[in-house]
Amino acid sequence: MNQTKVVKFGGSSLADAKQFKKVAAIVKAEASRRFVVASAPGKRFSEDIKITDMLYACYDKAAKGHNFDKEFKAIEDRFNSIISELGLDLSLESEFENIKDAFAHRAGRDFAASRGEYLNSMVLANYLGYEFIDPAGYIFFDESGVFDLERTISVLSPKLAETDCAVIPGFYGAMPNDTIKTFSRGGSDVTGSIVARAVNASIYENWTDVSGFLICDPRIIDSPKPITTITYRELRELAYMGAGVLHEDAIFPVRTVGIPINIRNTNHPEDAGTMIVSETAESSKYTITGIAGKKGFSVIQIEKDMMNSEKGFGRNVLRALEKNDVCFEHMPSGIDTMSVIVSTDSLVGKEKSVLDEITFRVHPDKMEIENNLALIAVVGRGMRKARGTAGKLFSALAEARVNVKMIDQGSSELNIIIGVEEEDFETATKAIYDTFVK
Ligand code: ASP
Repeated sequence: MNQTKVVKFGGSSLADAKQFKKVAAIVKAEASRRFVVASAPGKRFSEDIKITDMLYACYDKAAKGHNFDKEFKAIEDRFNSIISELGLDLSLESEFENIKDAFAHRAGRDFAASRGEYLNSMVLANYLGYEFIDPAGYIFFDESGVFDLERTISVLSPKLAETDCAVIPGFYGAMPNDTIKTFSRGGSDVTGSIVARAVNASIYENWTDVSGFLICDPRIIDSPKPITTITYRELRELAYMGAGVLHEDAIFPVRTVGIPINIRNTNHPEDAGTMIVSETAESSKYTITGIAGKKGFSVIQIEKDMMNSEKGFGRNVLRALEKNDVCFEHMPSGIDTMSVIVSTDSLVGKEKSVLDEITFRVHPDKMEIENNLALIAVVGRGMRKARGTAGKLFSALAEARVNVKMIDQGSSELNIIIGVEEEDFETATKAIYDTFVK
C-alpha cells in the first residue's frame, strides 16, 4: 500500500509566520506527508486582505498603465515579514523584480494572481527543506482552457515519482502556449487533488481553518454536530454546504480512483475532521448525513391538459431554458403540471423571453413564475435502509407549521429535496435537524 500523503494548506493556514510554524509541525509529524500544496497567504484577521486579492488589485492598476509601486510594495512586505520572522536565509528580491516587470508588460491577470501561491510555496519549500516544483511545467489546460487531466498525469506522475519531498504551488497551471492560467477561486484544492491522483496517494489531507463539515449550517443551528464520514456522492448532493470549505471540482480527480479526502484544521490538528470517501461500509451515525439549503430560487409552473401524453413536452420546455442559457435545478411533475426550478439570479432579465419561448414551444394552458423559494437538501446514505424517513421529515415540518411547496426524492434514495417559502427556511432546517440529529 502506497503510504504517501498529499497535504494541502489553505490561505489562512499560511497567512503569517505563526501559521507557517503550525504547518511545519504538521508536515514533519509524519514522514508520509511528502507532497505539500500551498495557497497564497490569506487573511490574518477578518478585515485583512488576501494576497490573491492584493495581486488582482495591483495588477489592475498596472494594466491601466497607472503607478502600482505602493500596492506591489505591500505584497513584498507580507512575504518579507514571513521570511524574516521565520529567520530564513532566503531573498525573493529577484523574483519580485521579475514579477513587477511582468506586471508592467501586462503578463495577464491569471499570471498576477498565481504569484501568491508561487512565492508562498518558495518560502514554504525553503522552510521545510523540500524541493520547489512549479506547476507551470506539470499542470496543463487545453486550448479551450479546460483542465487536461491526462496530459497532466502523464508528466506530473513521473516527475513526482523521482522526487522525495516537494512543495507545489496551488491554483494554477499552463496553457498550451505556456501562459499561466488559474483555476477558479479557491482552486488550490483542485491542485491538491491532482497531485494526490498523480502520486496515487493513500490520502489527500486538506488543511483549513475548520474541523471538517458540520451536519448543518452553524448560523442556523447552534454548534451542530460534525460529520465524521461522508461519501463523495453525498457531498455532491450537499454542494451548497461544501461551498467555502472545499472547491467543488476538487473531488473529481480523486473520486474515480477512490483516494479519500480528509478535511483537517491547522489550528486544531488533534481533531479528526471529516473523511470524504468513495463508498463506505461504515454506516452513518444518524439516518441523515447532512442538511444544506439555499434561498433564491424561482419556480416556473406550467399547466396543460393531457401533458403526460404529449411526446417531447419536457424536452421542449427544457429547450426553451437552454436557448436562454438558464440551467434548471429540479423538475418535479404531475399528470398535467410540471414545475421547473431555477435559481432566481439566472432568470433575471430573461423572464419574458423564457416564458415566450415556452409558450411558443408547448402552448401551455397556464404558466407563471413564483419567486422566493428556498431549497433544502436532506442527504444521507442511511436513508436507503431506514424506513419512514420521509414520514418523519414531513411530520416534523408540519409540526413546525412549515408549508412544503415542492418535494423531490432522488432515485438514489440518498436525498430528499424540499422547497419552502424563503421565510420558512430557518424554521424548516431547525425542525429537520432536531428530528434526525438531536
Ligand atoms: N489563492 C487563491 C484564492 O484566494 C486560490 C486558493 O487559495 O485556493 O482563491
